[in-house]
Amino acid sequence: MKLLFFGPQGSGKGTQAVVISQKLNIPHISVGDLLRGTTGVLKIELDSYMNQGKLVPDELTIKILKERLLNNDCKKGFILDGFPRNLNQLEMLKNITAIDKAIEITLTDDESIKRISGRVTCEKCKAGYNELTSPKPQEPGVCDVCEGKLIRRSDDNPEAVKKRLHTYHQDTEPILNSFKEKLIKINGIQPIEKITQEILEKLKKK
Ligand code: AMP
Repeated sequence: MKLLFFGPQGSGKGTQAVVISQKLNIPHISVGDLLRGTTGVLKIELDSYMNQGKLVPDELTIKILKERLLNNDCKKGFILDGFPRNLNQLEMLKNITAIDKAIEITLTDDESIKRISGRVTCEKCKAGYNELTSPKPQEPGVCDVCEGKLIRRSDDNPEAVKKRLHTYHQDTEPILNSFKEKLIKINGIQPIEKITQEILEKLKKK
């Protein structure tokens, strides 16, 4: 099954994409992580966009993603998280592969900004926490799993988040209309487990 996950920053789409990929046994590809993990000469160019909350140019993004989708683990399907973000990227994706379903997790801007301002990640093991919502680390700034230092992403400051939300509403939301009956819409203000259950149920039904 080839799935796309949509939702504003902080909607929990990344968390859900990981859980659903485990349940369905298909790889989870976070395009943000893919770009952040790119090394070599490209890194400086990518960072110059990402640190300001700007989208990386479409051609560069699709080139990196296309390589990833050629991996053997994508043969039985995949979950794309954070791609496509605009109509141009959707067209580029359609030229590479056919998508089965799109999942949209909804959230208001206020809730999104609140959630992102608390988001921290372990420097060592990459476990994710939220200092304002959940899961909260037992000790502020310290990872429950490995005692590593919890750090904030450089683009998780309020200004960059506002810019990313604006881009989401302007460029990403319009592409959701094109999925029509393939679109599964879920309210993001619910417990994580409830959202997972709803996604799995709707995937079975449709
Ligand atoms: P995310 O981890 O999804 O919040 O993405 C972080 C940053 O990665 C974004 O602000 C962009 O700079 C870049 N990025 C992620 N996905 C894309 C995409 N589909 N197209 C272009 N840039 C992207």
